[in-house]
Formats: sequence, C-alpha cells, structure tokens
Amino acid sequence: MNVLILGAGQLARMMSLEGAPLDLNVRAFDVGSNRIIHPVTLDEYEFTLEQAIADADVITAEFEHIPDPVLALCCQSGKFYPGKAAIKAGGDRAIEKALLDKGNVPCAPYQLITEKQHLIDAVTKLGKPLVIKTCQAGYDGKGQWRLKSEDEITQIWSEMADFIASGTEQFPHTIIAEQMIPFDREVSVIGARDKDGRFAIYPVTENQHTNGVLTLSLAGFVEASIQQQAVSAFKNLTTEMDYVGVMAIEFFDVDGTLMVNEIAPRVHNSGHWTQQGTPCSQFENHMRAVAGLPLGDVSLQKPSVMINVLGQPNIPHQVLAIADVKSHWYGKSQKPGRKMGHINVSGHNAAELADKLMQLTEFLPEQDYPGVRATAERLK
Ligand code: ATP
Ligand code: MG
Ligand code: MG
Repeated sequence: MNVLILGAGQLARMMSLEGAPLDLNVRAFDVGSNRIIHPVTLDEYEFTLEQAIADADVITAEFEHIPDPVLALCCQSGKFYPGKAAIKAGGDRAIEKALLDKGNVPCAPYQLITEKQHLIDAVTKLGKPLVIKTCQAGYDGKGQWRLKSEDEITQIWSEMADFIASGTEQFPHTIIAEQMIPFDREVSVIGARDKDGRFAIYPVTENQHTNGVLTLSLAGFVEASIQQQAVSAFKNLTTEMDYVGVMAIEFFDVDGTLMVNEIAPRVHNSGHWTQQGTPCSQFENHMRAVAGLPLGDVSLQKPSVMINVLGQPNIPHQVLAIADVKSHWYGKSQKPGRKMGHINVSGHNAAELADKLMQLTEFLPEQDYPGVRATAERLK
C-alpha cells in the first residue's frame, strides 16, 4: 500500500521506518521545496504532487501548517486522514479553542486579539500575567509573548501588529491571549482512533520544557485519576471530530485537574518513548489507523524516558553501551537548538530507570540535556 505523508521531516521518517514491515510504502511531500521524496533516503521521486496523490492509497500528515491548496487537493481525493477539520484545528488556535469549548473540555481562559483594544480588554478580563500566542504560526514556544504588566502593552502590541498586518483577507493572522496557568506540571496523552471508532491510548507522559522546547518526557508514573481525565478528553475530542489516526493532547496539571494547553493532529515528540516503552509505537499505530489495519498494543512494557537532542552534532556513542538505551538520529543539517534526534531509555522499574539516567549524565552534560539528573534523582 502506498502512503503519502504531507511533510518530510523526522516524523515522516519514523512513520516510514515503522510502516515498512507492515508493507506500507511511504512517500513524503516536502512542503518547502514542493518535492516528493523518500523520507528516509531523501531520494527524490519523479512525481508531481497530483501524481503522488493519485498513486497513494492513503494520505496523512506529519504537521498541521499545510497550505490550503495542498490540503484541498488531498481532501478532494477522499484518501486524507485525519481530515481537514482536524488539521485546521491543529493549525489555528482560535479554531482549536472553539473545538474545546464545544466539547466542554477545560482549557486556559482566552481572548482573541485583532486590535489593540482587545489586548487591553484581555488584561482586564484575564488578569496578569498573560501568555500571548500567534494563532496560525508557532511551534517550540516560538511566536509568543509574556505580558507581566500594563506598561508592556504598547511594546507588545507594536510587535503583534506586524504579524497581524502580514496576514491577508484570505489568510488572516490573529493573536490569542491566554491566562498564564500556574501549573504543577505538564503532561500529554497520545492515542490512536481507527476508522471504526476504536481507541488505543498510551499511558500519559510527563513533559519538561526548557525555553519553550520539549527537552525530556517521562512515561510510566502518572496517577490513575490523571490517566482517566486524559483518556476522557481524548475520547471526547476525537469522537467529536470523527478523527482517524494518532492525536496528541498537551495538558497543564493544576492541583490534580487537567486543563488542555493544545492539541496536535499527528504523532508527537512527547510520544517518541513509545518506540521502546510499548509493544506498538505511536508511529506504527498512526500508520495502522490511517491504513485501516487493526490498532496495536499500547500498554506500558517498561517505564521510559525520552531525551531530546537539540542542536548537537551527534549522539555520544558511549550511551549505546547502556542496556535499553537507543539512539534515534534524524539526519538533518545542524542548527542551534534544532531537534537533531532523541535518546530513549527504559528500565524494569523506577530504580533501574534512575540508575540508567545517572549513567547517561556522564555523557550528556546538563547544559545540553537539562533535567536528566533531576529525573534520575526523583525516581530513586
Ligand atoms: P509545541 O512545540 O508544543 O507545539 P507551541 O509553540 O505550540 O509548542 P505551546 O505549547 O502553546 O507552544 O506553549 C509552549 C510552552 O509555553 C508550554 O509547553 C508551556 O510550558 C508554556 N505555556 C503555554 N501556554 C501557557 C499558559 N496559558 N500558561 C502557562 N504556561 C503556558
Ligand atoms: Mg503547538
Ligand atoms: Mg505545545
């Protein structure tokens, strides 16, 4: 079966690697260069997008910022999963918030902003501090402002106005202000829904961000009450959208109650640990769901940690000498802060996982890999 993926980055690469044993042959559309490539070898195919669509049995996406004309072509083919509404909700925070409100799923109180007065209203209505985000762009905490006092309104507004002005009538640019949530921690749930509405939902992951970027995820230690809330939000939202494929939902945990931060209509960085912590990874389950195959086992085999490799030239080879440590390199060109790869590590129990994390700290310096030592100490 031929699967066309919109986007040709590491997520498409990992879906391709896990699709191959299922006899799923992946081609990727690189939105930047308009080329159809193999997401692992990066070899180019002699296909136009139209030909690749015609030749595909199934079409899916590794990211949500897909140009409208491309999305329209894929939807017209009737082969595209998870569907246009899901991609739109993932790519525009205003649509996402409306979806959450409709499903009665709690999220951070917000105010949409298209003019300066709305920003002033937001401070009155939501209080301070505010987290202000572009609705249509932004990932890894980019395209955001923090407003701590009224004095900052004029400065922040002038920066925002540039973004708003760069929108067009057809593709408007808008901004959203959210109340800053004093969360205890951030968690996410990753799950799959198949074409018959069946679910396979992974154990909830605890996520650590550094300067807005995910640096470390820990899976296997979340209380049942948190898991229940996450599963119920996942089922509500995906059912409402008739979603097919893997979806991720990021939450704030405030005193044991979950509040949605954002959703991602795709496989997600905080689910990379499933490559070795569970029998069937998020990449395999996404491919299974969109291809109409039965979903795989998502139960926890071993508590696991995923460590992002940001801006580094390589993954130190010594880490591979530690049992149950695996390296995942994406083969991209090096840039400061760029997601170059990740390291997964598992243990039979908390103590064993802590021990392996401590061994890793010898090769992974704190400034480049924050939180590894602290996580080890917590699990001891
Ligand atoms: P991603 O790479 O996950 O898609 P993003 O650029 O879409 O990131 P968000 O997830 O919205 O950004 O925000 C990045 C981080 O900023 C969050 O993980 C959280 O730590 C913090 N943050 C965002 N919104 C809020 C909020 N309303 N209250 C408190 N912290 C927030
Ligand atoms: Mg996001
Ligand atoms: Mg996020």
